[in-house]
Amino acid sequence: MRTLFFHLFLAATLHAQTPALEQLIEVRSGTLPIILTVPHGGTLKPGNILARRYGVTGMDTNTAPLSEMIIGELESRYGGKPHAIFARLHRSRLDPNREIKEAAQGEPTAEAAWHYFHNSAQQACDTVMQKHGLGLLLDIHGHRHLDQRVELGYLITGEQLKASDTELNANTALIAKSSIRDLDKRSPESFAELVRGPRSLGGLLEAQGFRCLPSPTKSHPALMAGYFSGAYDITAHGSRDGGSVSAIQLECPWNDLRDRPENQRRFAKALAEVLGVYFEVHFGNRLRAKP
Ligand SMILES: [Zn+2]
Repeated sequence: MRTLFFHLFLAATLHAQTPALEQLIEVRSGTLPIILTVPHGGTLKPGNILARRYGVTGMDTNTAPLSEMIIGELESRYGGKPHAIFARLHRSRLDPNREIKEAAQGEPTAEAAWHYFHNSAQQACDTVMQKHGLGLLLDIHGHRHLDQRVELGYLITGEQLKASDTELNANTALIAKSSIRDLDKRSPESFAELVRGPRSLGGLLEAQGFRCLPSPTKSHPALMAGYFSGAYDITAHGSRDGGSVSAIQLECPWNDLRDRPENQRRFAKALAEVLGVYFEVHFGNRLRAKP
């Protein structure tokens, strides 16, 4: 049914020279309760899609091959693949991690691609909720901040992270606005532990040799230092506004991670291992595939 709708949609909105939506946004279904979205790894710049005129237009280099490795490592460890949505369009043509106005800037094909990206992400979340009851969406990015740490975004700003653990745990309004709102209810750990404790995603990755922010070694960004706390993708598809799929924006540094295939592989292996622990501890579920 979805395929039929999709082809009707395609026929109605695209003309002969424009690449098909499936070429602009690649969607793969999976069997694990994990969804990867990769909004800024695309390289396609079709001549008939106008360039965006404002906003950030630089791509997150190597996040596409890195995500392929994450998919491969998850599969070899857990016997199934995550769902995955790759924007193949270059960020100068579409930024899926923004609301549609800034994302597509009125370009009709880019708008259609934006809808396809987000409908597909939502469909993946719905499938995961149906099959597994809960899940995790990771929005994969790359940053060039001076401090070369993996930045984990939960829709909690760097300023808000300056609060003490006690203050964070008491701030129910802030917790309710995070992209892991549902996970916080499931986890036996406090919100502060879930975000920057030893068994937070940052804590577990640090134990594997990847410095993170937030984490037990870095509770909040330094003064004037950059930190990405998350944007449209994890707002739209995380559990802030309901549902049981929580979402984290994962921003990978260049040095010793995105720079070379062997470092991408090292991180992909570490992340795959850590996600199994993360699921057991916080979701209370063994990470496994369901056909
Ligand atoms: Zn990005």
